[in-house]
Amino acid sequence: MIIGHESSGVVVKLGKNVKNLKVGDRVAIEPGVSCRMCKFCKEGRYNLCKDMIFCATPPVHGNLRRFYKHAADFCFNRHLFWYSRHSSTLIIVSTTVWIFYVHSINFYVFMSSNFQQMHKNPE
Ligand SMILES: [Zn+2]
Repeated sequence: MIIGHESSGVVVKLGKNVKNLKVGDRVAIEPGVSCRMCKFCKEGRYNLCKDMIFCATPPVHGNLRRFYKHAADFCFNRHLFWYSRHSSTLIIVSTTVWIFYVHSINFYVFMSSNFQQMHKNPE
């Protein structure tokens, strides 16, 4: 099993129908490739797709290797949003921020439901 899913790289070869990238582009790789057909994918919430194929999740090998083939629409040109060599780090940071954001909402919901119960039964 090959590990690796938060990574970036340089495009060395393209499929014949790829229009969004060119050889030499530096890209950040979205490790999860969704079906692109289900309700979640069409709403832009592809991270909820039940048919997601994810790097380094058996039986799919990860991308920590010299050459790796990936869906072009899940490779993002780093020049479009980030000019440093650390775009894959940005993915990890954004994921961490998102986790804290989601948990703070759950905490808020928990607190507000407790508050409502306390309000109904003031003893
Ligand atoms: Zn889907």
